[in-house]
Amino acid sequence: MSENHTHFIKHIVAKDIEAGSYEQIVTRFPPEPNGYLHIGHAKSIVLNFELADEFGGRTNLRFDDTNPLKEDKEYVEAIREDLEWLGYEPEEVRYASSYFEEMYKQAVKLIENGLAYVEDLSQEEIRRMRGSLTEAGEESPSRSRSVEENLELFERMRKGEFSDGEKVLRAKIDMSSPNINLRDPVIYRISHTEHHNTGNTWCIYPMYSFAHPLEDAIEGVTHSICTLEFEDQRPLYDWVVANADLSAEPKQIEFARLNLTNTVMSKRKLKQLVDENFVDGWDDPRMPTISGLRRRGFTPESIKQFCREIGVAKADNLVDYRMLEHFLREDLKMEAPRTMAVLDPLKVVITNYPEGHVEWLPADINPENEEMGMREIPFSREIYIEREDFMEDPPKKYFRLYPGNEVRIKHAYFLKCHDFVKDENGEITEIHCTYDPETKSGSGFTGRKVKGTLHYVEASKAVPAEFRLYDSLIDDDVEGGDFMEHVNADSLRVQHGFVEPNMKKVQPHDKFQFFRHGYFNVDPKDSSAEKLVFNRVVGLKSSFKL
Ligand code: ATP
Ligand code: MG
Ligand code: MG
Repeated sequence: MSENHTHFIKHIVAKDIEAGSYEQIVTRFPPEPNGYLHIGHAKSIVLNFELADEFGGRTNLRFDDTNPLKEDKEYVEAIREDLEWLGYEPEEVRYASSYFEEMYKQAVKLIENGLAYVEDLSQEEIRRMRGSLTEAGEESPSRSRSVEENLELFERMRKGEFSDGEKVLRAKIDMSSPNINLRDPVIYRISHTEHHNTGNTWCIYPMYSFAHPLEDAIEGVTHSICTLEFEDQRPLYDWVVANADLSAEPKQIEFARLNLTNTVMSKRKLKQLVDENFVDGWDDPRMPTISGLRRRGFTPESIKQFCREIGVAKADNLVDYRMLEHFLREDLKMEAPRTMAVLDPLKVVITNYPEGHVEWLPADINPENEEMGMREIPFSREIYIEREDFMEDPPKKYFRLYPGNEVRIKHAYFLKCHDFVKDENGEITEIHCTYDPETKSGSGFTGRKVKGTLHYVEASKAVPAEFRLYDSLIDDDVEGGDFMEHVNADSLRVQHGFVEPNMKKVQPHDKFQFFRHGYFNVDPKDSSAEKLVFNRVVGLKSSFKL
């Protein structure tokens, strides 16, 4: 594990600072409010905020809301909440849409300087005439329009005199450039669409590649960090910055986006899962969204530590989902109280234990963190164990309960099975055991050894609970096809069992380690005092090694 988490962007910033290029560095996290944030965004958040922080700079949260079609206030709210939960406070919260007037002015300036023109050709014609990697671009007849005519047409575009797609504004750069992005890209389009921020003020909207550099320059961003797919756009970014009438000169730096195994990382795809009801909303605990991970039980620290450790590189890669789980275990192992839960209960009657008697046994709350102290748990003649912890005809090396075998009950006594009861369907409904008072946990008993240790919940005081166990949302082993064909139909398993009586008072988002089962989170939406619901965050062990 790297200790100082250094990376190439830090080197760039350090050099810039050494050269005296900037007084203070300014970064931004610029989500488009067209979906909820996912763990990929967390990588960008951690990078931008911690970079600025390390160099004494600042970071804005900027909603990149220049495309009204897919954007919504709901997403704006969710993004703010997620960022706050992660623990980052932006210097300022900005909206790209509040720069529309300034962007319009900048476009007018370009026209005045002979650097932009209004185009009448259709989108298809424009695309065809821009050529390809092997084919030169073709100049449009509109390219030679006079400045006056362009100014007039652009103003009429703004006034709403044309319908969607009838005209666009193009930057006049270089139709023979080897970089197709520079072959007179469209910078403004007509869209008679209400905007969630500006309402019906505008019917023309700037294109991302024009808007983004302007937004950065307006805010005085020094280092504009984005993902690799924008590398080819950098010359256009620089062109806009160079030709804008703004003093700041932000520079774009690209890094590899985060890809995770067994999930999808695109708002479009995640939205499809939500819209088609494959999941219970954006915050479904199986979703790789920040809100899903939070509801599942991930902590801000585990997500941030994961983002720091995966590093920042210039080449795309695929990160193992189990690495994220690793950091959750690391974060919770000292903090989460240990407790016992029986997820699939089978009743045990201890036939030689006095009827009506309940004793309270001491149990440590976290053996790895003694400061957390002790709790008391009940034990009596009837307890629940896991159904899978008893077998009538066990295979070899089965060390749990079976007729004639003796096991240890965690925090309690040795139990030996002598009988069991079946119903008319042949299902085992109850097992009968005897206990040995001499073997009480903590008594120092060494008379004989047993191989299995089982957890339990005492029956009369057991608190019923629902347990939600998750599997990956996406099956990576399926070959080819649309991602929807990879959706795992068995990603949620629900079980009903019991927890210890001291769990009655749990609150949403309380986290526990259930003995042998892993880490669980109290579901913030569905759990109540009447019906406890626990989400499994991760199991206890994994073959994964850092
Ligand atoms: P998606 O493709 O999932 O819709 P996006 O890139 O369109 O994501 P934006 O809202 O535009 O989403 O992204 C905000 C910021 O988060 C951008 O700077 C973007 O580069 C970054 N980002 C998005 N996805 C990832 C990812 N998987 N890894 C790292 N950074 C990402
Ligand atoms: Mg996007
Ligand atoms: Mg995208």
